[in-house]
Order: sequence, then C-alpha cells, then structure tokens
Amino acid sequence: GGLPSKTRVNEVLAEAHARYAPHNDGVVADYIPILAEADPSMFGLSLVGVNGHTHQVGDAEIAFSIQSISKAFVFALVCEAIGHNAVHDRVGVNNTGLPFNSVMALELHDGSPMNPMVNAGAIATTAMMPATSGEERWQLIRNGLSRFAGRELMLDGEVYRSESLTNQRNHAIAKLLDSYDRLDANAEDTVDVYTRQCALAVTAQDLAVMGATLADGGVNPITGEQVVSAEVSRDTLAVLASCGMYERSGEWLFEIGLPAKSGVAGGIVAISPGKGALGTYSPPLDEAGNSVRGQRACAYLSRALGLNLFAST
Ligand code: GLU
Repeated sequence: GGLPSKTRVNEVLAEAHARYAPHNDGVVADYIPILAEADPSMFGLSLVGVNGHTHQVGDAEIAFSIQSISKAFVFALVCEAIGHNAVHDRVGVNNTGLPFNSVMALELHDGSPMNPMVNAGAIATTAMMPATSGEERWQLIRNGLSRFAGRELMLDGEVYRSESLTNQRNHAIAKLLDSYDRLDANAEDTVDVYTRQCALAVTAQDLAVMGATLADGGVNPITGEQVVSAEVSRDTLAVLASCGMYERSGEWLFEIGLPAKSGVAGGIVAISPGKGALGTYSPPLDEAGNSVRGQRACAYLSRALGLNLFAST
C-alpha cells in the first residue's frame, strides 16, 4: 500500500517532532568552522509522497548545506550520464566500516574507492561527470541537483569558503586517487567542485522532494520531470542501503529499514521506494556524523507510517 491518509501523516509527523525536539544529545560538527555556528535547537521534518503530497513540521524551510547528501544525487546523475557499469568499474558498493574521510580505506584497496558515499568514492564520482572544465562540471551538478529538488539550488558561499580553507584531507584523498590513476579529472579542480556540491543550500523540504524523486523511479513528483531513469534510482537506493549512513549503515537498516543518506550539517534523507521520502534537519550529530534527532524521528516515522522495507505487515 501507499502512505496513510494525509491527516494521519500530519498527526504522526507532529508527534515525532514533539517527542524528539526536547532531546539534546549529540554535538554540532565543527571540523568545518562555519558549521559550528549552527543553532542546535533547529529541528525540521518534511515528508513528500510520490503523489506529490507534502507534509512539514518545525524548521522544514530553514536552509543548511547539503554536505554528504549530495553524494547520493551526484552518483545518480553520473550513472545516468555514463552508465552504471562504467561507474561500478571505478567505485565499489561495499561499506568501508571506516569513517567517511578515511585514507586507510583507500590504501587497503589499492587506491580503489570502496563506495561513492565516502569522500574518496564521492570525489572519484564527481570527476566522472562528463565535462570539459571544472566550472562546467559544477554547473551540471548544480543543475542536476536542482532538478531533483524542483527548484534552483544555490551555493552557500560562506560554507564553501570555510570548507575550502580547511579541506586539506580531501585534497590529500584526491591526490592519492590521482597517484593510483583513478581520478578522471584534475585533482584540485575536482576537490573544488566536490566542495561546492557539498555547500549547496537546501532545506528539509528540498531533501524530501529529492528523495521522493528516487522513490518515484526518477520522476520528480512535484514538477513531473524525469530526472534519472528508474534503473538509476534503484541502483542509487541499493548503494544508500549499504553505505548511506556512514559506518552505522547496518544499524540504521536494522532499525529503520530504509535507504538513506546523512550529511554533517545535520540533514538526512530517507527513501521509501514507491511511497515517498522523509527530509530531516537537526544539527547535533552522533559520533558517526548522523543527526541524532533526525535518526530518532526517522525511526519513529518508519514504524508509525509502515515504511520499513523488510516489514511484511
Ligand atoms: N564536505 C564534507 C567533507 O567532505 C562532507 C562530509 C559529510 O557530510 O559527511 O568533509
């Protein structure tokens, strides 16, 4: 079946918000200096159905940087552009079990990135977007993510500048990929494009629309545009199921049962294929880098709305 009635969905969303808003666990990310300025009390939830129905509660229209959640949609766009096999030849689909910015995960596998949801694999994937310059590659990525969101997404210049001054580790990962001849574009340009894609400003509402597009076989349920194919949507969701929630992906799937992706600014998108998607925003994170309130709200909503993929009733 689909989602419960509109009234029921609104009720359940309001319950989840009221229940977890007082939870103050977790810490706001500060390794990108500007992110430390986020208001830890912010908490927004949005749900968009494949039928285009939209539900929101709390700070669902507050902008924050998409960060790692961009990796899911860039992966989908690159698969659409060059084919899933060409991407899979370069980047795997298994979880590293290590932090998102691990250099060791790359060294342990002869410089071959284990999946597109950790920085090494995401940087390699960004470099695979066919373009003749970094600037063109950035515009293709920004346009593509905007089509997923159904509105023009803009760069948060402050986040971009803050991360550009502190992303030596991502430069090191790109250089290492290059040394193994596994980077399809210039290392510096690619890190710059990757840093921009992570600094795109989105809201919980945008994340829900972007996720609902993957839930809807690649068709944006608000604009009606086919952004990627149904096959690419399916492949992207499979990768999110195994790798979307950093080294907690197994625990997340066990508890919540949905493909999902989180980012260090506090966003999460969780997708229920054929039904819709949740977008959540709350900056305090657990040690793996996942939003604490966002995870709890998704667990609550997955149960209350019957979204878990593995549940037979
Ligand atoms: N731009 C961030 C980085 O590369 C993304 C990290 C994340 O959201 O996991 O460090």
